[in-house]
Amino acid sequence: MEGLSISEPPSSSLALRPGLSELAEYIEYPSTRPDSWYDWKWQLKNRITSLEVIRELMPLTRREEEGIKRATGRLAMAITPYFFSLIDRQDPKCPIRKQAVPRLEEFSVSSCEMVDPCGEDSHSPVPGLVHRYPDRALLIVTDSCAMYCRYCTRKRMVGTEHPPMPSDRFEDAYKYIKSKKSIRDVLISGGDPLMMRTEVLEHYIKTLRTIPHLEIIRIGTRVPVTLPMRVNEELVGMLKKYHPLYLSIHFSHPREITPEVTKACGLLADAGIPLGSQTVLLKGVNDRPATMKKLMHELLKVRVRPYYIYQCDMAMGTGHFRTPVSVGINIMEELRGHTTGYAVPTFVVDAPGGGGKIPITPTYMLSQAKGKVTLRNYENRIFTYTEPE
Ligand SMILES: *Cc1c(COP(=O)(O)O)cnc(C)c1O
Ligand code: SF4
Repeated sequence: MEGLSISEPPSSSLALRPGLSELAEYIEYPSTRPDSWYDWKWQLKNRITSLEVIRELMPLTRREEEGIKRATGRLAMAITPYFFSLIDRQDPKCPIRKQAVPRLEEFSVSSCEMVDPCGEDSHSPVPGLVHRYPDRALLIVTDSCAMYCRYCTRKRMVGTEHPPMPSDRFEDAYKYIKSKKSIRDVLISGGDPLMMRTEVLEHYIKTLRTIPHLEIIRIGTRVPVTLPMRVNEELVGMLKKYHPLYLSIHFSHPREITPEVTKACGLLADAGIPLGSQTVLLKGVNDRPATMKKLMHELLKVRVRPYYIYQCDMAMGTGHFRTPVSVGINIMEELRGHTTGYAVPTFVVDAPGGGGKIPITPTYMLSQAKGKVTLRNYENRIFTYTEPE
């Protein structure tokens, strides 16, 4: 767009909320984007949250219109302009679009689906803390995310946009972790912990670091994908003070790995933060082996080590996203042996009702007799291994 000042300082342009036509220009033509586009607070302030706005930005299907109308309250629609710009606005089947834009199908609930599909609430000794495995705990610090994934497993609690967890709640969780000597690993999750102000997140991490038996801290986040500009020097400079600190980043599709995301992952990796990925297996998004393999390859290129592929949990209204388990097994079959071992994550089902993550793999051991096992390799060739006497 001619005449638009690209050099306008972010502080002044931040105050200006762009009009709809300007926002449409920024989304359509990257060269028109003002500096403020690269400011994470601007991105959050200008999220697309209403039918009136999204309707002006792209043609919607009837099912999307209905879905958006009904998606109010928890897990309401919220899409950063950045993430929205990755959508193919002419293609209702676009994999980015399916993750971000509500559809009517979200509101048909089947009888097997649950409010709390992984039984987290029943393993919660204090509010905001899930303690399922003896040596590690999951701390839920906020219910906000940059973009609300329509298949979210924590949709029961995510997206009310309340202020972050009250500090007395953190105190209780902290006291619990401190009192349990068996906990050597805390996973900070949400919502998305990187939605919090850096000082607040630092307060939590710093406080946890005073616990002598806590060996590692992990953060689970999707912000580097949906709001990559949040990953700036300030954030990374804070995080790297608290090593060993790991980051698990939620990715869904190879098209999410843009120059902005590459930069964000580079900053994190250069700060010595080991990066892992988590991907939910989603019908029509990443359920083709070629798509998943491409995603794994793109992740390795940005120094993210594929960690988990999750079978989509039985959360309310996720039937249109769920695949048979065999689809995941087939994807694993197409990865192992066919590509770099580092590109092969573990495929897991988070057991309904609270059994934790259960790995599922193709069957490579065909039989087990006394003293020998019969195996097959990725090419279906058969081998016998003789065990020691
Ligand atoms: C996933 C999860 C963890 C971490 O599991 P890892 O396999 O160690 O990554 C811990 N607690 C809960 C409740 C979880 O869901
Ligand atoms: S980022 Fe995670 S917690 Fe947030 S909506 Fe997506 S899946 Fe749910």
